[in-house]
Amino acid sequence: MPVHIPDTLRPKLLALRAKQLQQLYPDTVLVAQEVVILTQGFGPAIYLGLDGRVLIWHYMDDESLRVTENIADIAAGLVIGAKNYDLPELHDLLPPRPAGGVACRACGGRRWVQFGRRVGSDEPSWLVCWECRGLGWQDAEPGAAAGGGA
Ligand SMILES: [Zn+2]
Repeated sequence: MPVHIPDTLRPKLLALRAKQLQQLYPDTVLVAQEVVILTQGFGPAIYLGLDGRVLIWHYMDDESLRVTENIADIAAGLVIGAKNYDLPELHDLLPPRPAGGVACRACGGRRWVQFGRRVGSDEPSWLVCWECRGLGWQDAEPGAAAGGGA
């Protein structure tokens, strides 16, 4: 199920896309499809289509680009993209916490978990929460990951 892109967000995504296309060596997926890059560099590349589809590319595993319906991948992509590109509106595309959900036990709902320090600095390093994958909530039952299949 694609995420819903509100009309107010669309121009911001188009502006981000234009900016990303100005890179010296623009991403091949970015050039070929109407998407923005949410994350690339660590793990799979994740893209958000202007049509609301989320695409994932495990390029290091030699997999081809595909649409993902995995809520863990979608959440991680949107949360990282929101931070990378200063677009907090991307959080609004995440599914709301269901009636049976509780604040994530690992991050307390903050979406990010402090993980050591940045190389060569005293700044803390932050990772998207590995428990909830950035959703900020999880199923009330212990051990049940958000959406499963992370
Ligand atoms: Zn969490």
